[in-house]
Amino acid sequence: MTTIPSSAVADTALRTHPGRDLAGPGRLVPVSVTAVTQVAPSLRRVTLQGPGLASLVLTGPDEYFGLLMPEPGATVPPLETGGMNIRAAVAALPEESRPGLRWYTVRHFRQEVHRNDGGTVGEIDLDVVMHDDHPGPGARWIADATVGDSAAVWLCNAIWIRHAERPLFVADASAVPALRAILEFTEDHHPDDLSLYHVRVVAHTPDELEPGLAEEWGERVGSLSIVYASPGMEAEAVCAALRRDRGAGHPAASPEYVWASGEAGMTKAVRGVAVDEWDVDRDFVDWVAYWIEGRPRP
Ligand SMILES: Cc1cc2nc3c(=O)[nH]c(=O)nc-3n(C[C@H](O)[C@H](O)[C@H](O)COP(=O)(O)OP(=O)(O)OC[C@H]3O[C@@H](n4cnc5c(N)ncnc54)[C@H](O)[C@@H]3O)c2cc1C
Repeated sequence: MTTIPSSAVADTALRTHPGRDLAGPGRLVPVSVTAVTQVAPSLRRVTLQGPGLASLVLTGPDEYFGLLMPEPGATVPPLETGGMNIRAAVAALPEESRPGLRWYTVRHFRQEVHRNDGGTVGEIDLDVVMHDDHPGPGARWIADATVGDSAAVWLCNAIWIRHAERPLFVADASAVPALRAILEFTEDHHPDDLSLYHVRVVAHTPDELEPGLAEEWGERVGSLSIVYASPGMEAEAVCAALRRDRGAGHPAASPEYVWASGEAGMTKAVRGVAVDEWDVDRDFVDWVAYWIEGRPRP
């Protein structure tokens, strides 16, 4: 189960895009690292804990957040955004105390964890793909993260809607944590939907994936396949597979709703196939650029 208790998601019907009161106070939540686990050779899980997470209610299973990552031994300074964009607020800090900022998905959320000292905290796991291609502030901080490190979470919201009868999910390795969270949420709240889901994953190697995706979900969803592509070829590989599905009359290639997350060019190409070639309503395509091949994605 992704979320404990499963009621820690605000709206489990999710027929419309989820939202959070983004103007409200308390969006910046101080946390500390309580565990680091190597889930797969190139996938690292970091557990973050903080009293401020104990009152968190997720807006949906693919909820993402900004992770503010200070230098080793430092903490994130108090940030008064005053309505400013978080990127601008961080950029306005003096360089010596400026934390890194990248975006991650809640892989698991435990709303109430009782500590030995009697305190109650909330806990988030995030799963991060470790890449060798010029690791930026995110991959560098995660690689060095150790128990006791300080950080802060900037709360955002989820993206996926439980919209249509024939959803197609396309994810690369960085978006498989979000995909798995959606599958687990569906199993908890709407298990009959699972057989309608068509899932296509593109990854560079199995080392980037939490083990067991096909084994755990392959028989429970409508269809699931994983293609492996070298860096830069993700879009071509996944679009070729989708077009083959279409040619074969496979239901995966007649979606009413598409959720595509991962590398920017890949998600854009999938949106192009869905909207321009298959006539899917553009309002029913959620495509999110998680990272950009060859350059930083601040
Ligand atoms: C809504 C949202 C949710 C996200 N959730 C997750 C998540 O759950 N797990 C996760 O791993 N990432 C997730 N990301 C991506 C994450 O924010 C970072 O982009 C990623 O960790 C890389 O950050 P970086 O600082 O190391 O690299 P950057 O500074 O962004 O880029 C530096 C270089 O690294 C390359 N690069 C970046 N990522 C990869 C990659 N995956 N494979 C190969 N090369 C890469 C870039 O092309 C660039 O050349 C999410 C992004 C968004 C917007």
